[in-house]
Amino acid sequence: MKEQIDILVKLQKIEIESDDIKSKLSGVSKKFDSFDAGLKELEQSIVDKKSLLNDLSKKYRSYDSDVQTNLALIKKSQGKLIAVKTNREYQALLKEIEELKTKNSQAEDEMLLCLDRIDETEKDISVKKDEYSKLKERVSSDKETIMREVEHGKERLAKLKTEWNSISSRLKPELLERYMMVKQRVKGTAIASVKKSVCNGCNMNLPPQMYNELQRCDCLKFCPNCQRIIYWEQP
Ligand SMILES: [Zn+2]
Repeated sequence: MKEQIDILVKLQKIEIESDDIKSKLSGVSKKFDSFDAGLKELEQSIVDKKSLLNDLSKKYRSYDSDVQTNLALIKKSQGKLIAVKTNREYQALLKEIEELKTKNSQAEDEMLLCLDRIDETEKDISVKKDEYSKLKERVSSDKETIMREVEHGKERLAKLKTEWNSISSRLKPELLERYMMVKQRVKGTAIASVKKSVCNGCNMNLPPQMYNELQRCDCLKFCPNCQRIIYWEQP
């Protein structure tokens, strides 16, 4: 029985390592997704900034065109000044010219604001582009490292599987079946050591009589509390 228990312990060790590798492998695609999401987010923010830049340039050009139109109107009105006959007409033209000049001065203020924001946005874009290329480089190197780890993991899994098959073939079929049943029932480790009368699977104390029997290692025993297969671990 002792030898059979040793085999079960080895099997369980192999299974734990395999499960660990499998869970790491299954996390890889999530990791890749999060890398890609980070890149995409930066990419989108560059697109947004470029669109803002485009809007600002349009706004600037529109103000500029207003200013040019107003300047032409001012010139025309100024031309008319010499030809007016009444003071009332003269005052009216002066007022018109003043209003156009005020409009232009407001438009020019807006244009300056636009230029400031254009400048700021261009700087933002250049910073983001820099961030993007750095992140892209890091992501591709991280992906390479992970892919190498995946390869190693897969190789190790294949080795563990072969090992499991060869070791399990030395088990009595009914014991293997029992082990699998317990494993399914406890949803985890099926075999637990008992040290100083305590089951390692559930941390409960074994009855003294049972602990004594366990130390003889002559038959299969189960923890009365967690139902795992138990074996005595020599202190
Ligand atoms: Zn137990």
